[in-house]
Amino acid sequence: MIPWESRAEEMVEKQIRARGVLSESVLEAMRSVPRHLFLPERLRESAWIDSPLPIGEEQTISQPYMVAKMTELLAPEKGDSVLEIGTGSGYQSAVLASMGAKVTSMERIASLAEKASETLSFLGYDVVVLWSDGREKGELAGKFQRVIVTAAAPELEEWWSDVLAPGGRLVSPVSVLSGSERLILREKRAPGVFVDSWHDYCRFVPLLQGRTGGIC
Ligand code: SAH
Repeated sequence: MIPWESRAEEMVEKQIRARGVLSESVLEAMRSVPRHLFLPERLRESAWIDSPLPIGEEQTISQPYMVAKMTELLAPEKGDSVLEIGTGSGYQSAVLASMGAKVTSMERIASLAEKASETLSFLGYDVVVLWSDGREKGELAGKFQRVIVTAAAPELEEWWSDVLAPGGRLVSPVSVLSGSERLILREKRAPGVFVDSWHDYCRFVPLLQGRTGGIC
């Protein structure tokens, strides 16, 4: 069997660098995280293909290129507090944590939040996973240098921009007229002052309302 490190290396070269993601810290993170361990056992062999894959509950782990592209746009620095909306498998959180970010991630489906949290702590990534609806701020406190949304948002929720620290960056897929989504990068220059830019077209599972599963 080919060792996973070689498959990760091949994924980085053929799917990611070849498509123009050149940030060395992102490429290194994509090489170092064992993507296969964020998938159900029967899909682990397929972990490195150029595609999103099912993780249960009708949700998906994003395509490797998309994870890399969003991470490059987000450009987290060591020690940054990063908020993720849409934990899913926990893979994107692991990529960010491996770059030295302090990640808090929100997931609305209880079973996914629990599984992701288990996988992340088993692998030694220090990530706080919250079972909560990321459309609402809830009891979340403090500011974040980076915010990343990994489900298709009809529009940017106001509170995502509010919790960004000045100098912060927000990356999210936002629905556009064609029925797909497009990545938006929002840079916060000062309180209330934003510079937005549009990037790749993409397809994500929808950002839904309310949390589900669990006992309460
Ligand atoms: N980042 C993930 C992939 C995300 S799939 C990974 O690396 O595997 C999108 C996830 O967003 C799904 O798990 C879905 O349940 C979750 N989601 C959708 N709407 C949400 C909301 N309002 N709040 C929190 N999570 C949400």
